[in-house]
Amino acid sequence: MTAPSPASAPRRVRTTCPYCAVQCNFELTIENNLPVKASPVKDCPVAHGTVCKKGLAALNDLRHDERLTAPLLRVNGELVAVSWTVALDYLRSALRPLAQATPERIGVFGSGALTNEKTYLLGKLARVALRTPNIDYNGRYCMSSASAALNKTFGFDRGLGFPLEEVGHSDLILLFGANIAETLPPMMQYLKAAKDRGAIIYNIDPRATVTAKVAGRHLGIRAGSDAALALGILRLLEVWGKILPTAPAENMEAVLDAARQYTPGRVAYLCGISEDEVLILARAYAAARRPLILTGRGAEQHAHGTDTVQALINLSFLAGHFGKPGAGYAPLTGQGNGQGGREHGQKNDQLPGARHLANPIDRAHMAAFWNMAEADLPQPGYSAQELLNACGQSAEQGGIEALIVLGSNPVVSAAGAGQITERLKSLKHLIVIDVLPSETARLATLVLPGSMWCEEDGTTTNLEGRVQRRRKAAEVPGLAREDWQILCLIAEAVGRPEGFEYADFAELQTEFLRSTAGGKADYSGLSAQQLDAGSAQWPIPASGQPSPHAYAPPYRHVGGQARLRVPEVPSRVSSGLTLTTGRHANQYQSGTQTRRNPGLKASFEVQLHPDTAREYGLKAGEAVTLKTAHGELTLPVAFAPGLRPDTVFIPFHWPGANALTDPELLDPHSKMPAFKTTAVTLWPVRVNVPEARRSEKEALSYGL
Ligand code: SF4
Repeated sequence: MTAPSPASAPRRVRTTCPYCAVQCNFELTIENNLPVKASPVKDCPVAHGTVCKKGLAALNDLRHDERLTAPLLRVNGELVAVSWTVALDYLRSALRPLAQATPERIGVFGSGALTNEKTYLLGKLARVALRTPNIDYNGRYCMSSASAALNKTFGFDRGLGFPLEEVGHSDLILLFGANIAETLPPMMQYLKAAKDRGAIIYNIDPRATVTAKVAGRHLGIRAGSDAALALGILRLLEVWGKILPTAPAENMEAVLDAARQYTPGRVAYLCGISEDEVLILARAYAAARRPLILTGRGAEQHAHGTDTVQALINLSFLAGHFGKPGAGYAPLTGQGNGQGGREHGQKNDQLPGARHLANPIDRAHMAAFWNMAEADLPQPGYSAQELLNACGQSAEQGGIEALIVLGSNPVVSAAGAGQITERLKSLKHLIVIDVLPSETARLATLVLPGSMWCEEDGTTTNLEGRVQRRRKAAEVPGLAREDWQILCLIAEAVGRPEGFEYADFAELQTEFLRSTAGGKADYSGLSAQQLDAGSAQWPIPASGQPSPHAYAPPYRHVGGQARLRVPEVPSRVSSGLTLTTGRHANQYQSGTQTRRNPGLKASFEVQLHPDTAREYGLKAGEAVTLKTAHGELTLPVAFAPGLRPDTVFIPFHWPGANALTDPELLDPHSKMPAFKTTAVTLWPVRVNVPEARRSEKEALSYGL
């Protein structure tokens, strides 16, 4: 009898989920060198052994039939498999002349799903090797409004300012546009803990989502009216003598003065609810000892999203709740490494450690760290949507000639996706690094096969600023390479390999951790060995103690005070139908992985209130065409009694959804497109869509 091969003996590797910002820990079972099963682990410091269906099904894509395993080059209009030698020749001829003469003609587009190390390396590639100012990432579409408001007010941004455990100690939780039960399911255990202690939870959203059912209270305000509600509550707090600021701050009187115009009647009109509902909510907020305001993308993805978050920060700060455990304000980060991904240099204005590219001290520090002249370090460039809008335009128009995309799919996720698709087609060079043939990869002139989450080492930072280890459990297939190695090959191809010749990943990781020393997001007290021992919330300086409480005074601005701002709030509300977009529990972002996953079924349909459907003579399952100023799309109708009758909802994971949104209308502070409010008209098609194509029958797991 032959003894079993050592290669087939099962082993286990602990790592983190590829998807959302909870960053649940899994144990992967490895058989024959491939992970075959993901199991939750009870001592996960975030999810405590609960996970959601997406995480458990993530391995299904690892060896998917469509997995990219060789470089693909466009030849005579077709993508054909080529060797790395041919791929590198292409990179050399496409990028080297631009990097030498007109580096601003190269764009780089990253992702909030990248590990911290890849985020760092992508930013370094853009600034040090390519020398382009034009790098940004898809987190611009996710968290940027909340991040901008926190940075303006406190001088930094760490998402949730305290450990998730403390949510359970809040006595009032207001969820503005945050569908936690479907987007961050294990977090429901913390809401449940608060509820079991007697907390009141409101879901404030144009849709009564699954979260609203669990919360028990739903306030169905108009999409985009969250700031008016915050101002109305602030005004009532002042009337009731409840202004007790957290600490001295700039502009307090101006903020209170602006709120005085927001009477309950005006707020009720703007929000599309009753005056009684405004008063009841304001009384609950005034009476609470530890009220916590949390926002999701529903409150943030607007042309005035930064000001909406500002209004909520102002309210919480002036009522004295910032910095208290389990109270205050926090955004709920969406993508797996949405937090770390916005700290370490892939944003257009940022250097590692959440340093600012326009700050002379930060510039000098990083130029010295990278051994380059400060004058050679580019200044801030285009934000994500501006970068995509510039693709294919001429040099005189400030256009981009070559775009490198790492792990992102803007053909599906960008605002005005129809227009963006045409812009990407007009590029001379579109170089996409990915693991599956996304809609963007299909337009590429060169596709480079990269690594999946469990094929690489690294760290991620979750929605509470907790840094955790991601561990490699398998090798990349075929000719694929780990993403960090591909970035180093690009640096070599453009003729600037210095600083990209790492002996191994550990050397890159050590450099990344060192680069953050002294920055706002300081991880320099960590090493791979310390991460093996457990996780910690930043800042984690090399000397001194980590601090789990981020938003207690004094703040990072000169003088140590918070800088409150008077929010600009739109005064007019559309009288027609408003299209709003959002998530489906079984899908993630542009769906490149989850739409292919047989374990994650979901349907693409438009949700209408039954009264709205009746007005148009539409039955469930019939097709309707949605028309906006930017595009049109035909979908089957699903009835949603919990949706406002003036609101139309579609999920955004499928091609076509974002073709309906506006590519030009951006928040002036965060450059976030106005995904959540687009004027729409309905045109019934009178075709029935089969039941099998329109129903989502599968039960959801909420980690309760
Ligand atoms: Fe992954 Fe988020 Fe699901 Fe956890 S909740 S398993 S991190 S997708």
